[in-house]
Amino acid sequence: MGRIPFVCGNWKLNKNPEEARALAQELRARLDGVRGVEVGVCPPFVSIPAVAEALKGSTISVGGQDIFWMEKGAYTGEVSGPMLVSAACRYVIVGHSERRGRFAKPGPELAGDLMAVFGDNDTTVNRKALAALGSGLRPIICVGETLDERQAGRTEVVVEAQVRAALAGISPQQAAEVVFAYEPVWAIGTGEKCDDREANRVCGLVRKLLGQVWGADQAQSIRVLYGGSVDAQNAPGLMRQPEVDGGLVGGKSLVADDFEKIVQAAQQRKGEA
Ligand code: PEP
Repeated sequence: MGRIPFVCGNWKLNKNPEEARALAQELRARLDGVRGVEVGVCPPFVSIPAVAEALKGSTISVGGQDIFWMEKGAYTGEVSGPMLVSAACRYVIVGHSERRGRFAKPGPELAGDLMAVFGDNDTTVNRKALAALGSGLRPIICVGETLDERQAGRTEVVVEAQVRAALAGISPQQAAEVVFAYEPVWAIGTGEKCDDREANRVCGLVRKLLGQVWGADQAQSIRVLYGGSVDAQNAPGLMRQPEVDGGLVGGKSLVADDFEKIVQAAQQRKGEA
């Protein structure tokens, strides 16, 4: 199979440029040159230049947390693929559940219609994935069910619909650049990680779907990450799962020590440590 695991930090709405630079320097000191695993971080847009500068020449990649599908124009507040590329990004997260307005436990600040400010849907996720690829970025496409959907036995249906919609128009040649992340919404930021075997099962389902669209051989080369309350303690069990090719890490990516341990767990999977 030969898939190199990938551990990517999603810093969400955390770390201004100064703080981000400091964290990037700390990660560089710990993780630059690490073998057998790829490492990336996705800071908020304004902090990308500081992080890119701190990581320049290192083996740690930088990514954006979102992208708009137009290159330029009257789209206030948006950031395009070429802009991310010019800021030294290699990856971009696409369709994170928070961008889809699907939160495990929305606080009062997102009550009622306010959740709609994060308005991604399957169509926009597909456009963003295509735009990322068109700009030379690697999209990390996020899919996953809510707790209600899981309890209603709809996990497979929801994940399949999200995967198929996200892939529309992506050619088998472009497929090699795509990363998927299975992120059950109920596990994100809750401390409630998905059971290892269940994470493996759903990541395997994602790969099976990729195989139906792009062919089994191509699907074997695409990385499917798990995301949702990954930490230093639970990472070894998750990373041992054959269908789990690394992690998209939120909260614990902000703590250098924890993030390093998660990277080491992914590294051990390939027997590199
Ligand atoms: C995420 O942001 O994609 C995520 C999985 O967050 P956390 O690790 O905090 O659950």
